[in-house]
Amino acid sequence: MSGSKNKLALIIGGSRGIGRAIVLRLAQEGFDIWLTCLSHMDAAKKVQEEVEKIGRECKVFAFDIADHAAVKRALESQVDARVPDAVVYNAGIIKDNLFVFMTKEEWDSVVHTNLDGFYNVIHTVIFPMLREKKGRIVIISSTSGEIGQAGQVNYSASKAGLIGAAKALAREVARKNIWVNVVAPGIIDTQMTKDLPKEKILPMIPVQRFGTAEEVASIVAFLCAEKHMYIHGQVIGVNGGLAI
Ligand code: NDP
Repeated sequence: MSGSKNKLALIIGGSRGIGRAIVLRLAQEGFDIWLTCLSHMDAAKKVQEEVEKIGRECKVFAFDIADHAAVKRALESQVDARVPDAVVYNAGIIKDNLFVFMTKEEWDSVVHTNLDGFYNVIHTVIFPMLREKKGRIVIISSTSGEIGQAGQVNYSASKAGLIGAAKALAREVARKNIWVNVVAPGIIDTQMTKDLPKEKILPMIPVQRFGTAEEVASIVAFLCAEKHMYIHGQVIGVNGGLAI
């Protein structure tokens, strides 16, 4: 049992990339951290060490967000005992293909992970948060969910679904002092984008570069920690002008 008086942030998918940057930024903002991963436990443990160096408590959980029972098993009793002040739903996957060639597995796995994962995770945390009558929820969507992206019909559908889900949830829980927003990154330099043909993509981005994970983390930290906040049910693009 933690005796910590710090605020607590739960970051789903905090082992690498954007999630790791969010973890470190929120730790610097004073949050204790619970971070989750799927299988890269070594990476998650390294992030845990970095958080502990900053002087915050950190727990690591490993489970598949697409597996409803596994999410409940890992989180339910934890969030009941210590309710997170902020929850960042960041984990997600891509399996890109032109729709005409897209397999049922490519469709199902992306939608089950990215969108069903929202139900599995947020439904597990929402009741304790409602009970506490406070909290911040940030959902990581994507520019693909706002404007669509060729080769990503499955991913765009899942990320657009997250925007609809977050907006509807925002209407339901506002009166209980729970703030829900969406951050929609454009193209960010991480493992997920390492094989993209940069020379073809850069001309589409007005600022002519990919974003960094830290640039996404800074707006997430604002939405999780800012005292003077009146932003609710919004989609904040972090995309260098890719979608204007
Ligand atoms: P990474 O692939 O670098 O990291 C993904 C994270 O999600 C890891 O922590 C991974 O855990 C976790 N994860 C993946 N699948 C599952 C699963 N089934 N169950 C639990 N955890 C899982 O991704 P990025 O940092 O690039 O992206 C983070 C989020 O931002 C994603 O939702 C992505 O869609 C979104 N995004 C990214 C963009 C980009 O350009 N990079 C642009 C727009 C949106 P593990 O380490 O164990 O695999």
